[in-house]
Amino acid sequence: MIIKFKNDVKENEIDIIRKYLLNKGFELHESTGKTTKLIGVIGDTASFDPNSLYAYEFIDTVLRIQEPFKKVNRKFKPDDTIVDVSGVKIGGKKVVIMGGPCAVESESQIDEIIPIIKASGAKILRGGAYKPRTSPYSFQGLGDEGLDILQKASKKYNIPIVTEIMSVEDIPKFIEKVDLIQVGTRNMQNFALLKELGKIDKPILLKRGLSSTIEEWLMSAEYILDGGNKNVILCERGIRTYETSTRNTLDISSIPVIKKLTHLPIIVDPSHASGRWEYVESLSLAAIAAGADGLIIEVHQSPETALSDGQQSLKPDKFNNLIKKCKKIAQAIEKDL
Ligand code: PEP
Ligand code: MN
Repeated sequence: MIIKFKNDVKENEIDIIRKYLLNKGFELHESTGKTTKLIGVIGDTASFDPNSLYAYEFIDTVLRIQEPFKKVNRKFKPDDTIVDVSGVKIGGKKVVIMGGPCAVESESQIDEIIPIIKASGAKILRGGAYKPRTSPYSFQGLGDEGLDILQKASKKYNIPIVTEIMSVEDIPKFIEKVDLIQVGTRNMQNFALLKELGKIDKPILLKRGLSSTIEEWLMSAEYILDGGNKNVILCERGIRTYETSTRNTLDISSIPVIKKLTHLPIIVDPSHASGRWEYVESLSLAAIAAGADGLIIEVHQSPETALSDGQQSLKPDKFNNLIKKCKKIAQAIEKDL
């Protein structure tokens, strides 16, 4: 971190800052130019908020050099993290596809879809039991019943499940019944939830907040790792922009940025990113080409009658074709699918 003082700073004012920072255990390197006085601050500045220094009237600029995240930072762990979701490894050389309906609607729906998505090559079943819906009048999910349907199907068909958690009180149920716990876009900064998820060791799928920067997203992941849970997978699901022709805008560039900044795996959700089934295939291919470790895709046997997100759900044959094409892209960049 570098601190630049205003030109009329007084020696006793610089001394206030010196003492303050030395007291916090930092090492200081000072340099004085003709008009400019600088202090370079060396040490672990991750837990220090540089903006707090602007409270002093004689501070001109504070520049952060080191990222504010530590445990998720690739500088502190250069090797890719590979997260094991009940035997399915996410990260490294593999591309993993997760598929299933937006919401669990019935036992027969799940029973029917699992063999279909498995035959296409999906390794993890998705399906929401507790649904965060924009309107309180929309289908809210089957709740506990939905979770039981997923657990039963997971055992019967031997496939891990990913489903969204909405409240801290549900954590014990999720530990018992779910393989990968999803934190949805709306809860990315629910810090109380993130702290509790940091205390367990189940894998967490952390979706990007719909208006969050990459740094904010990584700081949320930092909460979970800081609590002790290292099993975090990031999920880019599109962000809100001024564009209205898609539900969100898929930030493809977040994939290489995430790969540079962190060792955590990243998957992409082209369904919520686009909001339309017609765009899901193109975005999936682009995501794999850009280096994503997997995809999470909404699939429904009858999108026209789906209780949520039918407009962005693929029919089984389209899902099957999409995976065939994804395999070719994966091969071209020397990855396995
Ligand atoms: C979901 O995956 O079911 C979902 C609601 O996604 P998001 O949190 O990205 O909107
Ligand atoms: Mn959905």
